[in-house]
Amino acid sequence: MYTKIDGKAVAAKIKDECALKAEELKARGKEPGLAVIIVGNNPASRVYVNSKERDCKEVGINSYEYALPETTTTDELLELIEKLNNDVRADGILCQLPAPKQIDEKKVLNLISPEKDVDGFHPVNVGRLVTGEKGFVPCTPAGIIEMLKYYSIDADGKNSVIIGRSNIVGKPMAALMLKENATVTVCHSHTKNLADITRNADILIAAVGKTKFVKADMIKDGAVVIDVGMDRDENGKLCGDVDFENVAPKCSYITPVPGGVGPMTRAMLLKNTLTAAKNFMSVK
Ligand code: NAP
Repeated sequence: MYTKIDGKAVAAKIKDECALKAEELKARGKEPGLAVIIVGNNPASRVYVNSKERDCKEVGINSYEYALPETTTTDELLELIEKLNNDVRADGILCQLPAPKQIDEKKVLNLISPEKDVDGFHPVNVGRLVTGEKGFVPCTPAGIIEMLKYYSIDADGKNSVIIGRSNIVGKPMAALMLKENATVTVCHSHTKNLADITRNADILIAAVGKTKFVKADMIKDGAVVIDVGMDRDENGKLCGDVDFENVAPKCSYITPVPGGVGPMTRAMLLKNTLTAAKNFMSVK
């Protein structure tokens, strides 16, 4: 019998804590704020930005949207970021990706002040994560750690296998699992005999982006399976990287899609923004 991890419930608890923190900051004269930049007309980006702004409102964070046209140049975007780096209303700055192809995303992310980098993508924050210093951690892997802790799933000494090595999920996830004292293996598209490796995983984290990629014969009995994927099945329905129906019976814990990692990613953005606001208060 497996436990379906309820990401929505864990996210709701974090959001309640965020609402309290926002209240406290306001009582001390600080209105927490998040600047959200969206460039162009990508419909998925619009949906994400709307939901982030809604989340902010729910917990009492001001959100300031900067919607720039599809033809925006890198220099124009950099100019806005410079401005926001010096804007006391913006404790956090988020640039919704992907940006249109003429934009140099690396330059953009690298210009965001590391102290306002609530997505945790700036190389300074990546370095802090890897060296164990305090900094902003990307929301998805940070949310997964929160979820494991909520369910008292101890990673210490466990074999943790991560499928995927992206900068936003796989790599920071590996650093966080190492911090939890797991023995970490990171797999990717060049990995040989993937199933042999995943069958050794006490905690398997799938961040591949391929519908139902992880099958039951890749799972160790009693494993914890975290599905990061946000894919579409043959009917266009949202699903994950894990073949949930067949994998779940082999697991001790498993996250569903939707209702697993996704809500946690959103909640962690709020938490990071409030940390940025609190840090601002303490250096003021
Ligand atoms: P990504 O940048 O495309 O990375 C995918 C990773 O999977 C790459 O490292 C790739 O290896 C690896 N991979 C691809 N095919 C493979 C194979 N056959 N065997 C083993 N590894 C393979 O994707 P991402 O941004 O990390 O996102 C992954 C998934 O998570 C997507 O579905 C995305 O939508 C979802 N996501 C969800 C959330 C959330 O909040 N729920 C947040 C972020 C992302 P190479 O490096 O060798 O190419």
